[in-house]
Amino acid sequence: MRIIAHLDMDAFFAAVEERDRPRLKGRPIVVGANPEDGKGRGVVSTANYKARAYGIHSAMPVTRAWELSEKAKKEGRPEVVFITPSGHRYGEVSDNIFTLVGKILEQACPPKFEGGNLERVSVDEAFLDLSSLGSFEKAESVVSKIKMEILSKEKLTCSIGLGPNKLIAKIASDFKKPNGLTVVREDEIEAFLEPMPIRKIPGLGPKTEIILNQIGVKTVKDLKEVSLEELNKILGKPRREGSGSRPRKASGWGIALYKKAQGLDDSPISGQEEGAKSIGEQETFAKDTLDPNFITDRLKLLTASVMRSFQKSGFESFRAVVVTVRFSGFETKNRSYTLKEPVSELKTLEFEALKLLYPFFDKRENPTKKKIRLIGVRIEKIK
Ligand SMILES: [Mg+2]
Repeated sequence: MRIIAHLDMDAFFAAVEERDRPRLKGRPIVVGANPEDGKGRGVVSTANYKARAYGIHSAMPVTRAWELSEKAKKEGRPEVVFITPSGHRYGEVSDNIFTLVGKILEQACPPKFEGGNLERVSVDEAFLDLSSLGSFEKAESVVSKIKMEILSKEKLTCSIGLGPNKLIAKIASDFKKPNGLTVVREDEIEAFLEPMPIRKIPGLGPKTEIILNQIGVKTVKDLKEVSLEELNKILGKPRREGSGSRPRKASGWGIALYKKAQGLDDSPISGQEEGAKSIGEQETFAKDTLDPNFITDRLKLLTASVMRSFQKSGFESFRAVVVTVRFSGFETKNRSYTLKEPVSELKTLEFEALKLLYPFFDKRENPTKKKIRLIGVRIEKIK
């Protein structure tokens, strides 16, 4: 089972400005291009929640934001404070936040993979892999702690979504903002997603929204009723969506959207690609030994333990097994075997690990009958 969290700071740039300039407290704030009294050319980067109440949002032309502010002013409401962004400072605050998050994660659930379990996706967003905790209850208490620590140390709020994959976690973090915590378990995905407007699906931009709305598809539930064939037809040619996105292959986007509508997503936390990760255990014996019965028993216990970690990791298969042996004199040898097909069973792991171990008992790998000090077993090529 996978447990993924998406952490998203609330109105990050505006929140940092508000925190650092007490005179701005409680005012509507827009961080973005200079509005130049309605003649500015850039866009809004971040609007805080007070400014959002005026209808201002990120990516809006800053002149439009200025107009909305003027309108509010005429109605006797406070005018918006426009601030040009100071990226450097936001970067520093971001580093502080994710260092803090990383420390909490390290204590709560040490990474099973070399890539770690924190993936920063932007200055104010990250995915966390909490699978090794084994339950959503535990994961919820860890992310609650993360929220509390960020608030107490950095005086900033964030919203967190917890789900069985990155897609659900991301939609969930956006569900209750600001300062939200939304948990969506595997069996709640359907009820959570179906009533949502299709625009809530990450990557689905305004153009696709219009095309789909035209055929009466408004919610995720509507979208699920469209066949893959039809989706591919409707979404037709490769095209661009939004700014900065790459054109997608028509068929690729059709199937991607089809899967997203079901809430399916198997993309890993980055750094955990196949090959980059392994799960392993090792044991140093109390006394160096060459007793095959004893060592075989210990190896079986290690494989069972590796298997438990593998099952908790949320990954589905592995393809390589490595056995490590360290002799009395600290000389260390590895033997490994790559299977033809990905596997996931303890029996297979145990069988392959024992086959790799046996040559260390005889002249094949141990002609001078050296005693063994440590053994280890590891699985690799995990998916
Ligand atoms: Mg944010």
